Amino acid sequence: MLVLDYRSMSNEALSAEKADLEKRYADFKARGLKLNMARGKPGVDQLDLSMPMLDILNSTSNIYASTGDDCRNYGLGDGLPEMRELFAEMLGIDDHNIIVGGNSSLNMMFDAISCAMTHGFPGCKPWSQQGHLKFLCPSPGYDRHFAITEYFGFELITVPMTDQGPDMDVVESLVKDDPTIKGIWCVPKYSNPTGITYSDETVRRFAALKPAAPDFKIFWDNAYCVHDLTDTPDTLLNLWHECRKQHSIDMPIFFASTSKITFPGAGVAAMGASEHNLTVFREHYSYQTIGPDKLNQLRHIYFFGNLDGVKLQMEKHRAILEPKFQVVQEKLESALGGKNIAEWTNPNGGYFVSVDVMDGCAKRVVSLCKEAGVTLTGAGATFPYQKDPRDRNIRVAPTYPPVSELELAMDLFCIAVQLAAVEKILADRA
Ligand code: PMP
Repeated sequence: MLVLDYRSMSNEALSAEKADLEKRYADFKARGLKLNMARGKPGVDQLDLSMPMLDILNSTSNIYASTGDDCRNYGLGDGLPEMRELFAEMLGIDDHNIIVGGNSSLNMMFDAISCAMTHGFPGCKPWSQQGHLKFLCPSPGYDRHFAITEYFGFELITVPMTDQGPDMDVVESLVKDDPTIKGIWCVPKYSNPTGITYSDETVRRFAALKPAAPDFKIFWDNAYCVHDLTDTPDTLLNLWHECRKQHSIDMPIFFASTSKITFPGAGVAAMGASEHNLTVFREHYSYQTIGPDKLNQLRHIYFFGNLDGVKLQMEKHRAILEPKFQVVQEKLESALGGKNIAEWTNPNGGYFVSVDVMDGCAKRVVSLCKEAGVTLTGAGATFPYQKDPRDRNIRVAPTYPPVSELELAMDLFCIAVQLAAVEKILADRA
């Protein structure tokens, strides 16, 4: 079949294409779909994988940690040693530099920012006493990261994402003279939403950063560190080791959780940081809690054993997710390939595919989909203040719907992308 570049089509041909797309769109609308691809949630069958974990603890289970502590009681503020070891292996940092928290890594990120605001880091004033502050937001990026720093009153600075990670020329030049820039959000592996993994050079440049602010922090959210979906997974250079070499170990704060390994909302989260930083956070936590949920940690430890157990579980996730990511690629390629109206990523892991539609069309695509019953992540959500300057990026989250529904949703999505493009090209020419 001959595929035409939309932008080189005549007005007549485009109008005919538009009429055809409108008809197909109306057919979809008439079906009364109700599908949701808005958030990166695991599907029901993925959640089922972890159900045996709920049977692991019962009234006869050994509920003592290797330290002898009774996991039913208060205590062990840094978490069970076995759980710290597991996160240490996942994140590639030392186990004594890990604090295991509650059920959510986002919660720990929020707390870290909150703690920096009210109490600050050694030798520096609390952030809240340093006047107007800024935070770097590689974009497209994770909306909930940006929202935390917006909530605390930071000015959000957009840093362009490249296929190697954040544009490091921009990062370096911004941080070197501006002490009001206090940090940067990073999802270094299978980034949300582009799915790219930071290159070795990017990681080295992060470790070698020389920010004007002595209390500048890299929020290294390795949420997708074990979430491979192909036989050729990405590898991420270890920032912890690179920072050791560069004597910048107080700069990064690492985060991860089992939300997309076991249960989002009922998993286990952890943070990792230098001794200096941990002193600050430990004090903060000592006021906040008398200890984390160690029974849930125990459940996870019994369920996995060690990192190999986690990897085995991730292979089961992959078996469920790989076909879904294939559907997305196939649908995008067959409907949009060669038309010069969209570009998209094809990640080796993670939870998202990032689609750039024609400039000025993302909002229209999302609203067309919504009207026909498919909810997508809001257009603009992947940028600070929900404002995509080019109104073109859409985060596709294919994990939640079953394959049959995903196929339908992607068919509709592709029609919407084409329809919005045709409308835009014709309007621009008018
Ligand atoms: N970080 C990233 C990059 C995510 O995509 C998500 C979930 N969408 C989270 C953190 C949330 O993690 P948690 O459930 O541990 O709070």
